[in-house]
Amino acid sequence: METVAPMDTAAQNLPPHLHPTLPPDAVGTLDDGIGFVALVDRMQTDPALKVVNAARISYDKQKTSFDEKDGKLCQFLWEHGHTSPYRHSFFTFHWKAPLFVFRQAFKYQVGSGWRKYEVNGEPVSLQVFDVLFDTDKGCSWNEVSGRYVQWGHEYYIPKVMRANPPHGNKQSSQPLPASFDHERERSLMRAECEEAFRLYESRIQRGVAKEIARMCLPQNVYTQAYWTVSLQGILHFLDQRLEPDAQYEIRRYAEAVRALVAPELERVGLMRPGAGA
Ligand SMILES: Cc1cc2nc3c(=O)[nH]c(=O)nc-3n(C[C@H](O)[C@H](O)[C@H](O)COP(=O)(O)OP(=O)(O)OC[C@H]3O[C@@H](n4cnc5c(N)ncnc54)[C@H](O)[C@@H]3O)c2cc1C
Repeated sequence: METVAPMDTAAQNLPPHLHPTLPPDAVGTLDDGIGFVALVDRMQTDPALKVVNAARISYDKQKTSFDEKDGKLCQFLWEHGHTSPYRHSFFTFHWKAPLFVFRQAFKYQVGSGWRKYEVNGEPVSLQVFDVLFDTDKGCSWNEVSGRYVQWGHEYYIPKVMRANPPHGNKQSSQPLPASFDHERERSLMRAECEEAFRLYESRIQRGVAKEIARMCLPQNVYTQAYWTVSLQGILHFLDQRLEPDAQYEIRRYAEAVRALVAPELERVGLMRPGAGA
């Protein structure tokens, strides 16, 4: 598993009190010592075993340990679109990512429902509850609020700039000519970000609320969120965001998520290869 890269670029320019603290076992994403994904929580029950037990309930059968046959059953279920057993296994991730990455990540809304319900003090399964009350099954995102928290000078500057392709496909980028001065572009971007932060902080000093002052901040500002999602939701996210047509930056987050759940993906026989494998 990749460990977090040493402090670099924007992070190096931060005053000491703004240096990010990375959770233990965080997987670095954008090689700047700021962006990461960490696994915060997962079920006590073996997620892969839960998939097969959820499927075997159809035959009123349960197992206590996971074997090779179960791996094959998992693969069969997934490949034939029997995805509901994958919605019983949950993970919670902590992401620190630029705003523009979260815009893409927050699109993933389905595939989770990690909630406990009680009726008259008795536990009620999620399925029963959903049938009765038709609640949504959306996965859960909770994000730092820019209304309450003042942003620190943490922003993402790509190490290497990229160009649009000449053809019509907008979902990719390509290298710039060899003569392109990446360092100059990076320092221009850094200066622009610092200027935006100067405007932001001076507006706050004039008494304007953070919820308004933030409007001048760029999309590469780092923020943080918790994501609780089922194994199905993870697989769907990886299927889309490990692909070469996904933007490089969210691909790096997909690689981090894949690294954090690799043991489970291997056991259910669905380790997603994708970019960077
Ligand atoms: C390369 C790429 C480019 C993209 N470009 C854009 C863009 O330009 N603009 C933009 O807005 N988005 C864009 N997206 C986001 C895309 O449209 C999806 O919103 C995103 O990929 C999340 O996928 P999803 O909706 O399948 O995920 P989820 O919301 O997690 O849904 C998972 C699955 O649940 C099912 N589902 C979800 N909701 C419903 C429903 N209401 N009814 C029935 N079934 C449902 C579907 O099978 C769906 O695939 C892009 C995504 C990629 C990968």
